[in-house]
Amino acid sequence: MKQAAVIGAGTMGNGIAHVLAQHEWQVALVDSAAAALDKARATIRANLDRQVKKGTLSAEAPDAILGRITTATSLDAAAPASLVVEAASENPAVKFGIFESLDRIAGADAILATNTSSISITEIASRTGRPAQVIGMHFMNPVPVMQLVEVIRGHATSDTTTQAVMEIARALGKTPVEVNDYPGFVANRVLMPMINEAIYCVMEQVAEPEAIDTVMKLGMAHPMGPLTLADFIGLDVCLAILEVLHRGLGDDKYRPCPLLRRMVAAGHLGRKSGRGFYDYAKQ
Ligand code: NAD
Repeated sequence: MKQAAVIGAGTMGNGIAHVLAQHEWQVALVDSAAAALDKARATIRANLDRQVKKGTLSAEAPDAILGRITTATSLDAAAPASLVVEAASENPAVKFGIFESLDRIAGADAILATNTSSISITEIASRTGRPAQVIGMHFMNPVPVMQLVEVIRGHATSDTTTQAVMEIARALGKTPVEVNDYPGFVANRVLMPMINEAIYCVMEQVAEPEAIDTVMKLGMAHPMGPLTLADFIGLDVCLAILEVLHRGLGDDKYRPCPLLRRMVAAGHLGRKSGRGFYDYAKQ
């Protein structure tokens, strides 16, 4: 049986554990917060039940899939894994600490992947003694539904590691795309400036948020307008990623819109706070 470990059992970690276990991996799901592990199991159960209702999974499958997921609060549970996917909080100090520990705990051949949205893969890899086996595996939210995995090569990531991770992603039913380690990779480097420009359009009163989203939906065939998407991602997360692009690439075209800063300062973070460009309290 293929053995994986997923570090961090939040929004992304539970989805990654779900997809791995669904494709026959034995998964150790690790979170420093025991409550997050209980919540993750409940979320995975609910998402699997939905797949059964839709007819994409057999009625017996959820028990078998959940049976392949064990939970733990210590990184030691990653010891038998040949693949570790880290999906802990987006904080460089947290990730550096986890990779320093994983380098000691995981087997010498294990691949250490990170789901980071914006932290340098090369910097994370340099915290280990095996930078050739460290790679970005950037799943999209919600993981069981979204097709893309951005596979990010750090400066020292080997061809062997990259090919192995591309193969694993395909075996999970995903479409991997190989990219190199520069700020924001491809997904956020292209997406965030578009969201930022949409926010400038709001600030300069070019149009109302609904009108801007309609232009992008009906005019450009985007399934979701950029402001709806920003509310979904979280405006604080958008601001943090724009800061990474601005700092890392040193070009003022990435400067975060002052209205975005003001909304984050006001605590209007989008869906999760009940208010962003749209009001979710009404729903
Ligand atoms: P989250 O806040 O929902 O979950 C993070 C989890 O990590 C929490 O349960 C927390 O208890 C745990 N954690 C923190 N420190 C830990 C440690 N030292 N050891 C073990 N567990 C620890 O976050 P999320 O939205 O799931 O994001 C996780 C990662 O995925 C981040 O790097 C983020 O940038 C990336 N990402 C998020 C999205 C998204 O849409 N949410 C999309 C793509 C990538």
